[in-house]
Amino acid sequence: MASPIRTLAPHLVNQIAAGEVVERPASIAKELIENSLDAGAERIEIEVEQGGVRLLRVRDDGCGIPRDELGLALSAHATSKIAALEDLDGIVTLGFRGEALPSIASVSRLTLTSCPREAPADTPAWSLGVGADGRLESPRPAAHPPGTSVEVRELFFNTPARRKFLRTERTEFGHLEQVVRRIALACPEVGFVLRHNGRQVFDLAPAGGETTRERARLAQLLGQSFAEQALTVEAEAVGLRLHGWVLPPAFSRSQADQQYFYVNGRMVRDKLVAHAVRQAFSDVLHHARHPAFVLFLELPARQVDVNVHPAKHEVRFRESRQVHDFLFSSLQRRLASGVLGEAAAATTAPVA
Ligand code: ADP
Ligand code: MG
Repeated sequence: MASPIRTLAPHLVNQIAAGEVVERPASIAKELIENSLDAGAERIEIEVEQGGVRLLRVRDDGCGIPRDELGLALSAHATSKIAALEDLDGIVTLGFRGEALPSIASVSRLTLTSCPREAPADTPAWSLGVGADGRLESPRPAAHPPGTSVEVRELFFNTPARRKFLRTERTEFGHLEQVVRRIALACPEVGFVLRHNGRQVFDLAPAGGETTRERARLAQLLGQSFAEQALTVEAEAVGLRLHGWVLPPAFSRSQADQQYFYVNGRMVRDKLVAHAVRQAFSDVLHHARHPAFVLFLELPARQVDVNVHPAKHEVRFRESRQVHDFLFSSLQRRLASGVLGEAAAATTAPVA
């Protein structure tokens, strides 16, 4: 006989949701750093031990969370970023699903510590832990400068089946470092520090001046030669803007390892985008070579649906044909003008 239908306990619901957003330490790092950015952080420190499995701590100097909202931040479907269905049409934050913290807390030992910018002077910072049963402990006074720290220990301690899928410390850290690099590339105005097992991996200072700052961050992350060889891309049409860099075809790569594409500041892997880029390069690149690029597409939030996938790796464009043609023609034009046309190509590119 079939079992009776029952409502699952909240802790179990969160553990199931965790299957979608918490694949490995790198996915946790992504969620926590995105929360820090949404909180307006200017400096984000990421401390990692044993590839992030033993410890992953993200500390920021963002707006902080008031004491009486700490519990909510760790509850499922609780978010400060949207309030109504219409808000989904114009998402301007990286998060909005209210899933990350409760999901992460359900498969690790999580402590949330925060000091809101306008906190009372006597007890400004509070810390809230989650017990092994998923129950919230009561908040305790803590020492913390304005901002928030999320400490995640012993990932998957209570879900051994998930832990089995983790790879070596080195592999997990490699993924995590890649996530931090990708995000840092898109946020040159924010400082990022990454430490692994007590060793500093990088300390990216925020550089001044918008254009030089972006190039400085590019050099910090992809190397001085990339920054020197790269052609600047700058195109605008029909409410779409594309900017960033492509390496000239002569510097193409044998692997697709330097391809960064962002939609409204969010790194995405998108078939339509990949196709448009590939097509633009098809005349100038041998088919076995891979283009290298860092490109940012900006368009009105209403033109793009980011609520396609829990981890938000994919997006859906409302006018997908238009986006495709804009990307293709902007890049093709830029590649055709090459190094000689540096100035000429930086003007507005009409859509084909
Ligand atoms: P979402 O980001 O989708 O809203 P999360 O579970 O990631 O959901 O976070 C829940 C809420 O906790 C956020 O909406 C935000 O209000 C708060 N929060 C989380 N991290 C931070 C942080 N680093 N600084 C300030 N507030 C935060
Ligand atoms: Mg979030």
